[in-house]
Amino acid sequence: MLVQPPYTKDTAVLAAEMHSEVQCGLSSEEADKLLQQHGQNTIQSEKQRSLLSMLLQQFASPMVLLLLFAAGLSFFFKEWLDGTAILAVVVINALISFYMELQANRSMNALKHMVSLSAKVIRDSSLQEVPSENVVPGDVLYVEAGDMILADARIFSSTQLEVDESALTGESLPVTKDEAVLAGEVPLAERVNMLFKGTFVTKGNAYALVTGTGMGTELGKIASLVQQAEQAATPLEKKLEQLSKKLIWITVGLVIVIFFAGLAQGAEWVKVLEVSIALAVAAIPEGLPIVATLALAQGMLRMAKHKVIVKRLAAVETLGGTNVICTDKTGTLTQNIISVNTILIPSGKTEVIYSPDGTVAVPKEVQNSVNYQKIVDAAILCNTANLEVKNNVLREVGDPLEVGLLKFSTTEGKDVHQVREKFPKTREEAFTSETKIMATLHENRSTSIVFAKGAVEELLQKCTRILLEGDPQDFSDSQKAAWIAQTELLASEGLRLLAFAYKETPSLQESLTQGLVFTGVLGLLDPPRLEVSAALEECKSAGIKVIMITGDHPATARNIALKLGLIGDNELPIMHGKDMKDFADLTNQDKKRWLETVVFARVTPKQKIDLITLLQENKYIVGMTGDGVNDAPAIKKADIGIAMGLRGTQVAQEVSDMVLKDDSFTSIVVAIKQGRIIFENIKKFVAYLLSCNLSELFVVAFSSVLNLHFALVPLQILFINLVTDVLPALALGVTEGNNLIMKDKPRNPDTPIIDNQQWKAIFTYAAVITFCVLGAVFASHYLYHQTELWNPQLCNNILFFTLVFSQLWHVFNMSSAQVAFFKSEVVKNKYVWYALAVCIVLVSTVYFTQPLRDVLSIYTMSIMDWVISLGFSFLSLLIIQVLKRTGVVL
Ligand code: ATP
Repeated sequence: MLVQPPYTKDTAVLAAEMHSEVQCGLSSEEADKLLQQHGQNTIQSEKQRSLLSMLLQQFASPMVLLLLFAAGLSFFFKEWLDGTAILAVVVINALISFYMELQANRSMNALKHMVSLSAKVIRDSSLQEVPSENVVPGDVLYVEAGDMILADARIFSSTQLEVDESALTGESLPVTKDEAVLAGEVPLAERVNMLFKGTFVTKGNAYALVTGTGMGTELGKIASLVQQAEQAATPLEKKLEQLSKKLIWITVGLVIVIFFAGLAQGAEWVKVLEVSIALAVAAIPEGLPIVATLALAQGMLRMAKHKVIVKRLAAVETLGGTNVICTDKTGTLTQNIISVNTILIPSGKTEVIYSPDGTVAVPKEVQNSVNYQKIVDAAILCNTANLEVKNNVLREVGDPLEVGLLKFSTTEGKDVHQVREKFPKTREEAFTSETKIMATLHENRSTSIVFAKGAVEELLQKCTRILLEGDPQDFSDSQKAAWIAQTELLASEGLRLLAFAYKETPSLQESLTQGLVFTGVLGLLDPPRLEVSAALEECKSAGIKVIMITGDHPATARNIALKLGLIGDNELPIMHGKDMKDFADLTNQDKKRWLETVVFARVTPKQKIDLITLLQENKYIVGMTGDGVNDAPAIKKADIGIAMGLRGTQVAQEVSDMVLKDDSFTSIVVAIKQGRIIFENIKKFVAYLLSCNLSELFVVAFSSVLNLHFALVPLQILFINLVTDVLPALALGVTEGNNLIMKDKPRNPDTPIIDNQQWKAIFTYAAVITFCVLGAVFASHYLYHQTELWNPQLCNNILFFTLVFSQLWHVFNMSSAQVAFFKSEVVKNKYVWYALAVCIVLVSTVYFTQPLRDVLSIYTMSIMDWVISLGFSFLSLLIIQVLKRTGVVL
């Protein structure tokens, strides 16, 4: 335990106290020991519930209380069998719910592991990546722009470090940090030599000594707040709860009617009460929210198999309703395999041809020009990427554009390490999407030189001279305009353009990017992903608008958009970031233009947020991709923030709702499709459960109103609900969906789960099932009533079995009517068949086992009885199919 706060201590002293070493870090053994001692570096955001308390909680529901009351009544009146059977039902039901909750939790935990971050620490004297949970006090942490800070740490060396601490302190501007010792008591927001877990680096880099992990961090101390935020119910769960409440009231009303109708007909009040309770239990779909959670969690696992990690349950639901995808270009729509394609220097334009042996053929006169040499030097020195050979395998580390430049330089015979050793980097102005320029200062004994590269229009503004035949000469505005026009032509061929410049012996006071000498331009090729065109087509038919937002040149953006079929030749012009006014100044006309535009180029992160705001104001549900630190606010603002798993920064991944492991646009479309399927499945099992429950209510209500003396007994109702409803409903929750799902328009998130048309369908289904079930009884009555075979028990059994089988077959009515019956997604769902098989085995077990038969008041039936029962159950399937396929109901 540190007595004096770490920010008041000298780092060497602090390191010694913590038995660490700022140069070599901890040893692996030491780190393991510390991990045992301090525990994992995780925030306990939710109270871990024990399995027992989770199990016990299943009994704390109104349904269970009602059933226990019913069991109590049975025991009171010495109906031991009934009482015990009801208790058995309660236990089985609780076990099923417990299992489902356990499954949902498991899925969520598995997903959490998939998005867990890794930290860069020095251990055993080398920089290594370790899972965030394994960071321990005493570790030497390395962080750079875009990294999440994964533990509290004391900085001991930093370069231009800025950290966004808004998550912890509420301060929206990044805080500049350094290693200087602080004195006295300093408030959290002013501890500028400390890094805090949960915040992120916006600029620069730093090495820091970890002083606190897990619940011992400042974030850990406020974990109770995080707890509340995480436990909020998803909108879907809320809607289901509302639906359940509505149903409870309807049921209570109906049950009261049935109760009094029964009494009026002189039935025994205990019996009537038991039937009423059984009915109430039958009609209230208590399990809906948990089944929905399970369906969402299982859906998330399925998406993970498609390389999409969804981080919040609620996001799955929003995905289904997404109607705009704002996507960036590089890597998402293109392959992100960037290679130099064209060299443009004052003496002319040269296309670069790569030979199969890995070399390039650049004409001698170009190779010998000073401009070209300077560009190649800049490509190596003004570059943050690296090519490492490990075990004879070339590893590319860094941004693909920078890697492409390095690879080009090496094919030109340059040794990257040698050049970098000869001209060590002493300063850097990092590339940002605002400046669109990167510059570095290099010094060796005799010279110091700046190399810069960046977007053509931006870099040309910083150039005062141009290198012509080895000499820097004046660079006029008209010459610059001619260069811009020439590069635009290249951009319209789909090339990404980079201008290069340098300056010698700069004054140390001035910015690196002032008074540069322009050397030339490289055109880089990044081919579009071929599979994206089909995904775009799918979006079109699914009513999803796709907008490309890129920091790249409008002509490059247009070319790629045309190649992918995102726009046609006659489409509206591409909107340039410089033509996008401030949000507050937008006229209605401007807003209309923004909403109609499909490609936005040279856009800043702030403009991305403005566009999302406008779209959201116009009731769009927006999915937005991003990768950099600056994209984080836009990712957060979007309804579905999408981060790139391969090239995205940790920050982007942290604030996103969804991470694409393969960075591909196609995965977004897969995710939306899955989101729709999951929602559709939830609707299916809600409709299934409701229509089944309603049919039971109708059957009992009818037999009570008509005073039929063969009504269902309470245990039969409970059995139907436990067996015939639950398993097929669960199977519906994992239906794979059909291709038609991407032909519908996106769902309006404000519409209820069950709309009026579906209510109509549910009532019709229930009515048809009731009609067939009562029809079966009347048929047997018609056949037997003049014989000694006819008796009320037989009628009751026919009623019971017809209802059981009608409900089992009813699962097939949940498929879409636009698809042929045998090709429908429900018929093709193997789990539906498993569920039916299990149900049939259970029903047969009951039928063939004497004690169970007694419990459920079942007697043996003749072949003819079975023909009637099964025949009428199939009739209900047939009638509903006809009604669906003729468009009478959904
Ligand atoms: P996309 O939407 O295609 O992913 P982006 O929005 O990420 O693009 P930026 O990476 O911000 O776009 O690039 C904008 C421009 O900045 C590019 O057209 C290029 O000219 C220039 N540029 C890109 N990367 C670098 C870099 N590493 N160094 C210097 N300039 C760069």
